[in-house]
Amino acid sequence: MPEPIRIFDTTLRDGEQSPGFSMTPEEKLRLAHPLEELGVDVLEAGFPIASEGDFLAVQTIARECRQTSVAALARAVEADIRRAGDALRPAARPLLHTFIATSDIHLQHKLKRTRAQVVADTYTAVRLAREYADEVEFSAEDATRSDRDFLLEVLAAALEAGATVLNIPDTVGYSVPHEYAALIAFLRERLPGVDKAILSVHCHDDLGLAVANSLAALAAGARQVECAINGIGERAGNASLEEVVMALRVRADALPYVTRIRTEKIYPVSLQLAEITGIGVQPNKAIVGRNAFAHTAGIHQDGMLKSPLTYEIMTPSTVGIASSQLLLGKHSGRHALQARLEQLGWRVEREQLDAVYQAFLQVADRQKLVADDCLRDIALGAGLAQLPGPAPAAHSSAVATQ
Ligand SMILES: [Zn+2]
Repeated sequence: MPEPIRIFDTTLRDGEQSPGFSMTPEEKLRLAHPLEELGVDVLEAGFPIASEGDFLAVQTIARECRQTSVAALARAVEADIRRAGDALRPAARPLLHTFIATSDIHLQHKLKRTRAQVVADTYTAVRLAREYADEVEFSAEDATRSDRDFLLEVLAAALEAGATVLNIPDTVGYSVPHEYAALIAFLRERLPGVDKAILSVHCHDDLGLAVANSLAALAAGARQVECAINGIGERAGNASLEEVVMALRVRADALPYVTRIRTEKIYPVSLQLAEITGIGVQPNKAIVGRNAFAHTAGIHQDGMLKSPLTYEIMTPSTVGIASSQLLLGKHSGRHALQARLEQLGWRVEREQLDAVYQAFLQVADRQKLVADDCLRDIALGAGLAQLPGPAPAAHSSAVATQ
C-alpha cells in the first residue's frame, strides 16, 4: 500500500514573501479557494505579525476554507504566537507554525542567543502555541546547517512541549539528496518519541535540488512536504508543488506514496497565480510551462501523431492542460504539416504534399513558428481544396492529440 503524504502548501506565505509575488488579502483569498479545491492538506495563509493585511488574510481564509488545515506562521516569541493564534481563531482546523533558527551561523549573527536560550525559547513557544491550536508545527530554521546533536536537543524540547509536526527545513537550499535523506534518517533513529510527530521537509531551490531533496527525504521517513505552486518562494523558490505531486504520480512504481491532490486542477491554479501576480513561469518549466507539452522536432511530432506514449510520460489532461501542441517550425516534418492542414480543413493530395512542404519550409526559415493564418496562405498558394464541412478555422496553432 502506498503511504499517504501530506502536502503543505506555502504559496501564500513563503511564496508570497518573495520579490514581485506579494498579494493583497483579497488576492490571497482568491487563490485560497482553488488551493483548497486542489486538495492541499495544509494551506499556510500568512505571517500575521508581519502586517495588518496578513493578519486579515489569515483570518479570512481561516473562516472561509473549511476543508483544509489553515496554518499561520510565528517566530518563537510570545507576541507573534498570540497574533497568529488570534488570526486562526475562526479556523475549522488551525495549525500554528512556529520557528526558530538552530544553526550557529543564525544564533551568532541573527538571533544573538545561546544554544540554551534557543532550547528554552522553543519549549515556551510550542507550549504557548498549543493553547491556540491542537496542531502545532515547529520548524528548526537552517536545520541542514545545524549541529546535529543540538538539533536533536531542540526538537526534543519541541516534542516535549507538544509539537505535532517537526519541520526540518533546508532553508538556504544547501543540501544534496543523499545527505538530506541521511539527516531525516538520523532524526528518526535518534530522537526519542519521534513517531508521535509528523516529520516534514521544506526545501529551497538555490541549487535546483528542492524537489529532489524533498523526494529523497520521503524514503527516509518524512511524511509532509512543504511546497508552492510554480515553485515560488524566497530567492530561487521552494520545491514546486506540481513537480513533487506529479513525480509521485507518474513514478508511483519507484516512489510508493500518494497525495490527495486532484492533479487535473494543477494547471488552472498555476495560471491563476500567474494572473494574480503578473509573473508567469519560464516556458520550459516542468509540468506547467508553455513548452511542457509542446513538440516541434519532426521526429517527435511524427511519433506523437502515431502515439503520444512515444514522447509524453503523462497526458496533458492529467494536469488540466487541454491538449498537447505540435508547433510547426523548420524542424517539423511532412506528417505534422499534413495533419495540421487537414485539421484546418484542407485536403492534401499525396502529389501536392511536397510542394506544400517546400512552401512551408520557405516560411519556416524566416520565422520561428508558422501560425495557422500563414498555413492558410500556403494552402491557398498551393491550390489545395477545402474539405467538406465548416470553414477552416484560422486562429489556433494547437494540434490536439489527446
Ligand atoms: Zn522557506
